[in-house]
Amino acid sequence: MSNQTVRVRFAPSPTGPLHIGGVRTALYNYLFARQHGGKFILRIEDTDQKRFVSGAEEYINESLTWLGLSIDEGVAEGGEFGPYKQSERMDIYASYAKQLVDNGFAYYAFDTPDELNDMRAKLEASNMSAKYDSTSRMSMRNSLTLSEDEVRERLERGDAYIIRIKLPRNEEIRFHDMIRGWIVFNSSQLDDKVLLKEDGLPTYHLANIVDDHLMKISHVIRGEEWLPSAPLHVMLYKYLGWEETMPIFAHLPLILKPDGKGKLSKRDGDRLGFPVFPIEWKAPDGEISSGYRESGYLPEAVVNMLAMLGWHPSDNKELFSLSELIQAFDLDRVSKSGAKFDMDKSKWFNHQFLLQTSPEQIINSIQDQINPIHTSKGGDYLKRVVELLKEKVNFSRELLPLGHYFFEPPVSYDEKIKNKKWNTEISSHINQYIKGIVEFNYHTADQMELYLTTYAEENGINKGMLMQPLRWAVSGQAGGPPIFDMLELIGLEEITNRINIVNTKF
Ligand code: GLU
Repeated sequence: MSNQTVRVRFAPSPTGPLHIGGVRTALYNYLFARQHGGKFILRIEDTDQKRFVSGAEEYINESLTWLGLSIDEGVAEGGEFGPYKQSERMDIYASYAKQLVDNGFAYYAFDTPDELNDMRAKLEASNMSAKYDSTSRMSMRNSLTLSEDEVRERLERGDAYIIRIKLPRNEEIRFHDMIRGWIVFNSSQLDDKVLLKEDGLPTYHLANIVDDHLMKISHVIRGEEWLPSAPLHVMLYKYLGWEETMPIFAHLPLILKPDGKGKLSKRDGDRLGFPVFPIEWKAPDGEISSGYRESGYLPEAVVNMLAMLGWHPSDNKELFSLSELIQAFDLDRVSKSGAKFDMDKSKWFNHQFLLQTSPEQIINSIQDQINPIHTSKGGDYLKRVVELLKEKVNFSRELLPLGHYFFEPPVSYDEKIKNKKWNTEISSHINQYIKGIVEFNYHTADQMELYLTTYAEENGINKGMLMQPLRWAVSGQAGGPPIFDMLELIGLEEITNRINIVNTKF
């Protein structure tokens, strides 16, 4: 591979939002390109205008940008192999289809929809698979069965036709896949796929192969759902005389539902409450599908989570930045079997990256949640709250609601703690302890902790018995960040205020 330039492409069809499976395909292509000092190309495959959805191309670009997957050649970036949008390359494809006909590898077919339906019905009635193939084509209306004169007349007259590939009856088609090893199909499993449609436009198969060749694509890394098309593609390379430079294939495993039963679908996301799209998608009909970005995920976490869906490194390392992934990623270590989507793991990844995010960045990302009460104690105070609480949450949006007691007295008090742990004796200890730290001006976490130890010893009680009630009296909560850090931040004056509230309330 070292003396071959790596050129890979991500080739989505703009038919709707990009599923995370598609994003993973883009990511693996990106990592492979970067790792080999190659090029990552974005080609928009919009030959099927009927399935075109407005906004989908912008969505693809925005998603890749958000995730930091920079493109070397593409519609916006340009490049020497452009245009990179198939609808702008429409004049290229027909000549290759004609070349295939001229060389006997494809043929004109003039069958009407009724004739095609008849054929299917007949084949099905005799329990045969309803395929237009080496057997059935000989009883159809095409340039293999009609006389040369009639074919010429029909073409001159402008009769409607399509061009189909002419596959052999019984031939082994073999190719090597980087992930799956040798793959063998028999041509009898395939049908004579349409290459050029009635409107003169190419199908996906023809446009995809022609473009991969013209764009000098070295490796085709794509989802497993394209594996059944691969033998046809191999035959096209052969028939077009491009076998020598055929790209190397790598078909990625499916991303499965959390229970492993079937492919992860858009509906699973809605049903189980997690996004299956990178960013929010507003369909032309107004329907909204949630995205990772809008759900509060950090792009680094999504990249890391997707990288691990189907690939794992040789050691146990789980956290990777994009540049670490470029180093560590290895197509040979991508598994053949489907990867189960794991929602808890996705949240865990986000938690890990949140821990690495500075409080300033976190505050920036939740500006819309911040109101005057959060800034009343100064910017530094807010930063310290964020720093203390980020250990406790998966998403930055959970921080302020969780830590409201840093800014105002508790609005409610955990009932269980009140009933189980709060009594006259404990209350009196907590009051004395607080009186002590105020008197001695013990305002740092260390001082407060040391004093609690001393206080407990002097009074012959277990320090542990006082910790939770103390936290509860100040924050109303049963748990939270390290208690003395919390007390230091809230400060002696406010701690006194809080104990007074508790004394009058309970
Ligand atoms: N346009 C195809 C898609 O939407 C590309 C498949 C391929 O990579 O060959 O996924």
